[in-house]
Amino acid sequence: MTLEEMDKQYVLQTYARDYTNFVKGVGSTLYDEHGRDYIDFASGIAVNSVGHGNPKLTEAICEQAKKIIHISNLQVIEPQAKLAKRMVELSGYDMGVFFANSGAEANEGAIKIARKYGETQFEKKRYKVITLEHSFHGRTITTVKATGQENFHTPHFSPYPDGFSYVPTLDDVYDAIDDETVAVLLELVQGEGGVQPFDKEQVQQLAAHLKEKKVLLIVDEVQTGVYRTGEFLASNLYEIEPDIITLAKGLGGGVPIGAVMTKHKEVLKAGDHGSTFGGNYLSTTAGLAVLDILSELYETGKLHETLLYFEQKLQQVAMDYNNLFEKEVGLGLMRGLRAKSAELQSSIIKNSMQEGVVVLKAGRNTVRFLPSLTISKAEIDEGFKRFETALSSL
Ligand SMILES: *Cc1c(COP(=O)(O)O)cnc(C)c1O
Repeated sequence: MTLEEMDKQYVLQTYARDYTNFVKGVGSTLYDEHGRDYIDFASGIAVNSVGHGNPKLTEAICEQAKKIIHISNLQVIEPQAKLAKRMVELSGYDMGVFFANSGAEANEGAIKIARKYGETQFEKKRYKVITLEHSFHGRTITTVKATGQENFHTPHFSPYPDGFSYVPTLDDVYDAIDDETVAVLLELVQGEGGVQPFDKEQVQQLAAHLKEKKVLLIVDEVQTGVYRTGEFLASNLYEIEPDIITLAKGLGGGVPIGAVMTKHKEVLKAGDHGSTFGGNYLSTTAGLAVLDILSELYETGKLHETLLYFEQKLQQVAMDYNNLFEKEVGLGLMRGLRAKSAELQSSIIKNSMQEGVVVLKAGRNTVRFLPSLTISKAEIDEGFKRFETALSSL
């Protein structure tokens, strides 16, 4: 039985999978079972923030695993407290942290905080959440409903929870707010929706308006967070102070972890929310190591250098292949090339894999780049060389 046969027979086929079998990774280079190398411009969808086999991260995980992997949240967990402190300090916001295991679960926590806030802080209960079209917030029933893409709200899984509505642009949020609106939930750069950043001034204006209306601003930083846009949080880059921020993907460097940060620290009380695995020794130790690595990269200016270098390369490709691409989109190391059609998008991704460079799709026609934040210039050069070879045959 081949691996592909085994997967097809025993694993539920919920993904349209590629069957390249990666067995090892070093930095931003992946190796398949035949020893062939690939430049990784995807980093497990923004998860492998410090690359593969990072010595600091793997050592931290191994050392912690030998001592203690998990006890329940009924006891205090030292790396959890330390990670929360680190995250709050890096964010610059006066917030508290709840740990979960994924982005969707972090968003569930955010919605619960908002709903309880809306139930306890006002005379008339507020519970409605406004989200943006083309957003993506997760795969649980509630976060699927929060996701502003109609095709996600399939009748298969209905009925969905009430209280979610969608607006096409930030300008439309204003009129969509009524006296039952508790929160606006948005990504500052829509990732899955097509690597589309919102305008900074528009976001700042909206944030000020929401504050005045006492409507909570929830920023889904599951993809944009942990230095992806060049700052610890995209909220830092946009110079706003959200009420609630969610994180996941890059925070554990590959170890599953999610987090909700909020300045409304008193809303959830003992018993209101919880998670068996959330914030255990292993994942929070990984998070601490990741933040050590990335905060140093940030402070030394190396992250900024990488970001500029990658951007330059991508802009060059967008110019040289303007027969294939409309434009270059994104921020920091969350980037995309808007292909001229959906068909082009899929052939580019397929060709790239054949040429030994891993890229992702986003939206209907965007080729997405989410390299690890520790990627070297040599790997960037090699990746783009292979990417151009993939393009030249189209
Ligand atoms: C990936 C993603 C999620 C979902 O995260 P999971 O860990 O898959 O549950 C939610 N929001 C955004 C913005 C994401 O990019």
